Amino acid sequence: MNSVIASGLLAKCPNCQQGDLFSNYWSLRETCDVCGARFLRDEGSWIAPTAFGYGFGAAVGVGGGVLLIATGTMFKGAEYMLMVIAGVATLVVYPWTKGMWVGMLHGWGLVYPDPVKVVETPVAAIDESEEASAPKVDASDEAIHAVDSAVAEATGEPIA
Ligand SMILES: [Zn+2]
Repeated sequence: MNSVIASGLLAKCPNCQQGDLFSNYWSLRETCDVCGARFLRDEGSWIAPTAFGYGFGAAVGVGGGVLLIATGTMFKGAEYMLMVIAGVATLVVYPWTKGMWVGMLHGWGLVYPDPVKVVETPVAAIDESEEASAPKVDASDEAIHAVDSAVAEATGEPIA
């Protein structure tokens, strides 16, 4: 729960609670500058906070409409004003929901540093660039890479 609060309210890394989550108001960093935890591991995991953001915006818009009708202050063109308000509400909660979501992902063990990459040959460099667009490897593969990298570092010899 601490990590959810840290990342949601303070926009800090849920892993070390020191690094910043965002490079600016809108942009989540890919990894933590302090501990190297990767925040965004699976594109699909952003459906929930995105849906929440839109849901919140819609709720604010609908709530505003109900308020106008209830108080008898509904006016022509109010729907456009409400759309703007709903849009602004969506944008305002966006970093918080994203931050809290990263905190929750961390709670589920899904935010952790990438394994240290050992670039041995140009082939490895090509693999790395392809990896950016290709579907992410699963955690067990990464764990194996992490062990390989650790062994390579310890022995000073690249793994064949
Ligand atoms: Zn961190």
